[in-house]
Amino acid sequence: MDSHSLFQSIRDRSAESEQNVPFPPGYEPGRTRYVVVFGTVMSGLGKGIFSSSLAKCLQDKGLTISPIKLEGYLNIDSGTLNPFRHGEVFVLDDGTECDMDLGTYERALDLDLTAQNFCTSGQIYRRVLERERTGGYLGRDVQMIPHVTGEVKNRLRELAMGTRADVVFVEIGGTVGDVENAYYIEAMRQLAFEEGPNSVCFVALTYVMEPAILGEQKSKAAQLGIRRLMECGIQPHIIACRAQNPVERQVREKIALFSNVPSSRVFSMHDCESVYQIPEMLRGAGYDKAVIDYLGLDEDVDLDAERAARDVWTGYLSRMRAPSRQVRIGITGKYTSVRDAYASIIKSLEHAGVHLNCKVLLEWVDVSELTDDTAAEALSSLNGIIVPGAFGTRGAEGKIACLKHVRINRIPCLGICYGFQMAVIEFARNACSMEDANSTEIDNECRYPVINLLPEQKKIEGLGGTMRLGGQDVRVRSGTRAFDMFGERTRLRFRHRYEVDPQYIETLERAGMVFSGRSPRAEIMNILELPADMHPYYVGTQAHPELTSRPLRPQPFFLGLVHAAIGHAYPDYAEALCYPKSVAPAGVDVEDAVRDVSSSRL
Ligand code: GLN
Repeated sequence: MDSHSLFQSIRDRSAESEQNVPFPPGYEPGRTRYVVVFGTVMSGLGKGIFSSSLAKCLQDKGLTISPIKLEGYLNIDSGTLNPFRHGEVFVLDDGTECDMDLGTYERALDLDLTAQNFCTSGQIYRRVLERERTGGYLGRDVQMIPHVTGEVKNRLRELAMGTRADVVFVEIGGTVGDVENAYYIEAMRQLAFEEGPNSVCFVALTYVMEPAILGEQKSKAAQLGIRRLMECGIQPHIIACRAQNPVERQVREKIALFSNVPSSRVFSMHDCESVYQIPEMLRGAGYDKAVIDYLGLDEDVDLDAERAARDVWTGYLSRMRAPSRQVRIGITGKYTSVRDAYASIIKSLEHAGVHLNCKVLLEWVDVSELTDDTAAEALSSLNGIIVPGAFGTRGAEGKIACLKHVRINRIPCLGICYGFQMAVIEFARNACSMEDANSTEIDNECRYPVINLLPEQKKIEGLGGTMRLGGQDVRVRSGTRAFDMFGERTRLRFRHRYEVDPQYIETLERAGMVFSGRSPRAEIMNILELPADMHPYYVGTQAHPELTSRPLRPQPFFLGLVHAAIGHAYPDYAEALCYPKSVAPAGVDVEDAVRDVSSSRL
């Protein structure tokens, strides 16, 4: 906009309104209901799991739900975050790199989410600043209130309109009292006022301590945490008390008294055996009914749909409780002590295990010192291994030693992304006599760069990083294991830069490796496998299949691995594996091209 038209637009539109941040065009206040979950007292209480379970209870009633996570940090997305500190980077089908909580929502709600469902302070401020530069504030000074808070409300309303959700489920990151989240809380206060009575239900998640030296539950920290929320002008409607043991009635009554919430809406949310039990636990306590009552949605509840959804879920729970077998699966990796860095892989193994009536015991394999000589001993107790995704050089040789051992000794194996690349390197070195095979990510000077950047990536490399991100279609070759899993086409999610260098494909295939999944548009190898006469289960994928596994629709690569691991652990196991319908979303077709990202990845 040139300065003349900028001036025109400022003069023409009135700058008098204090609101100054209008509703998105066509938005009807009060049509969509909102549930907002705040954390008090401390982090690490499982706010994401709680929120997604409560959202599931509402979804089971036939309501359309759309969740959104509001993150306090200034990063635009989670792409540059270290999984060691923040947990895994989750990737959505549209290529958004986001917090792992989005994975929790996708799994709980069996939905494919988009960039609209993930918001950071960085995104909010960027929009405000861009708008300021184009004269969007009509000559006013830009302030936290109403402009920044207005942008937050805008995001929620755009989500409501874009998804036609009955209920938008808002999870505020962090804990009440954190400086970086304060404006989100203020925006929620305004939202409730503007949307009208009973349109926005505030849920406070708090913590009831039970110090061992006292042996009784103490409510003071919870009271203070909720008081802090009330100081921000938010009167909670429902309080969820996290605790080790069921929260006693007297304690709940005390919290009720101090927070103006009827004790019938102060609930216990104590530890339970498995997160899959939480939706039933919430229903049992009456959380879902309290939300529905407050939001006046009784008429919209579909009881038959709810009964059917609960039956399916309790079927899953009962299969989970009574496994008839168990296997040991090892995960090799850099972040061996941090389970959050591999959260989706762990979940995918759980889903596959429940489907096959099998308990999957996890073991972490430290590859930092692993060599050909020590691999046999390090892997001796395992029925299968996963070599997961990674960036950089650390641990590569240990992983290659591991892959060699399991390939030669016919131990079931799944290589994911970096693991897939290491499998190609190992095979090139040991089955194709290319001793100095490597990835240029690890050794730029190696003689056989079997894993390399593609020429078109090299061209834009100077501009920053290039990353192939998000859902891509995969064409599957008939007569392969992958074809049994998916049929002729599937869709997987990606997050990587390096590829199998096309010039080595023929050599690798001549020695027995089968590239059974490829991009339909480019010479990009997406799935590899060894044929059944060479190995019971040796599969790799350039994608991240763990991102699309759902409890009721386990991802086929993991099913195949666990099934083969059972065969390894129980030699007379003969049950055939029937792959469920593919999880490929019908969704958006993203160009199969590398996307420019301005930052390097960890
Ligand atoms: N570092 C590898 C690449 O960039 C693998 C990435 C991953 O495992 N996510 O291609």
